[in-house]
Amino acid sequence: MAPMLHPMVKSADIPMGPSEFVEKIPLERYVAPEKPSLIGLTRAQLADALGSFGVPQEQIKMRVQQLWHWIYFRGVTSLDEMSSVSKDLRAALAERYTLARPEIVAEQVSVDGTRKWLLRLPGEVQGERPHEVECVYIPDTERGTLCVSSQVGCTLTCTFCHTGTQRLVRNLTAGEIVGQVMAARDRMGDWPGGTRPADGVVPNGERCITNIVMMGMGEPLYNFEAVRDALLIVADGEGIAISKRRITLSTSGVLPNIERTGAEIGCMLAVSLHAVRDELRNELVPLNRKYPIADLLEACRNYPGVSNAKRITFEYVMLKDVNDSIEDAKALVRLLKGIPAKINLIPFNPWPGTRYECSDWEQIEKFSQVVFDAGYASPVRTPRGRDILAACGQLKSTTEKLSARERMALRAMAMVE
Ligand code: SAH
Ligand code: SF4
Repeated sequence: MAPMLHPMVKSADIPMGPSEFVEKIPLERYVAPEKPSLIGLTRAQLADALGSFGVPQEQIKMRVQQLWHWIYFRGVTSLDEMSSVSKDLRAALAERYTLARPEIVAEQVSVDGTRKWLLRLPGEVQGERPHEVECVYIPDTERGTLCVSSQVGCTLTCTFCHTGTQRLVRNLTAGEIVGQVMAARDRMGDWPGGTRPADGVVPNGERCITNIVMMGMGEPLYNFEAVRDALLIVADGEGIAISKRRITLSTSGVLPNIERTGAEIGCMLAVSLHAVRDELRNELVPLNRKYPIADLLEACRNYPGVSNAKRITFEYVMLKDVNDSIEDAKALVRLLKGIPAKINLIPFNPWPGTRYECSDWEQIEKFSQVVFDAGYASPVRTPRGRDILAACGQLKSTTEKLSARERMALRAMAMVE
């Protein structure tokens, strides 16, 4: 069947007035593959799925338990491997579902062992050009952190962020978010009995992926439900079982969903602050025009579960001669007084065409000394994977390279075929 055309959305090159806050319009939409993947269904959704094709009610709980174990504990990639599930049920599932995760189409390994994967996802037209997101694995001696994306591109336009320049935007599904973790565990041999890659760096210890940060492409709190469902699956103790204390969600400050993040997900929160004055933050993080600093900090004070043992991380990108003065540092510690906080100074990671520069190292040291003297430990984040454009804010898949004309031509072709 020919796919439906949707009304053309005009170019995302929306002029931004100096005081006006405009989000980019999502350009492309997701078309579900012919058979959906079971990955990303919550336990309740799995139960509904089983019920919908006649699994007796009294068996459903046990079947969900079995499937959960095979999918999220063992990490099987084929329904045939589920040996404790009856053949009939496997066949019924195979008719309707797959266990597909996003496909890794390219891998780059940095000199420091960081890996960046380009993942392929369904696009707007079935069988035509797919969408892409990036996912980054950062190994350390004792831990391995996976940096996961929540959207293809981002509707926000923070001026120092490469992802913000990408025009193509769509939300990822819960399955595509959990799928990044699954694909990474497949590649790193992180399921029971798996084999580690021969190259790169892996941490000591049983697990390769011990921590998750929602700091890849996209604004996770603009895709709240999918991110919530995905993170609850990742944290589930009978599956992947990464504790909520090891999962950090970073937001540019989508106020209405901050409280929900604490209440409904319960993970660690990081807030991209980057400036101590509204005037400057309006420029760096345009969402500040909607949710200014004072309101944002108020939401942080009230973040469910916040305490000295569960602090909020405030991220602050170090931009030369923009936000890196000693006065800024002093204002920063004054501003955060009374909030259980960690401060994370991020040296700016440059990308092709940016107008910003990273602060000089001496300036970062002076700035961090002020922060350190105020009682915040080890505040500077070491940049990782810069040589492969894998560091914070450098992610940008090339999906957008398709021009509007090319997209129209592809759609037209798909209609004819
Ligand atoms: N959209 C979310 C999460 C993704 S970005 C957010 O903005 O919080 C993760 C972190 O990298 C954010 O703090 C973001 O502001 C920061 N960042 C973006 N571009 C950067 C760059 N070029 N150099 C350093 N940090 C950057
Ligand atoms: Fe989007 Fe975060 Fe980049 Fe801002 S910093 S454009 S919110 S991904």
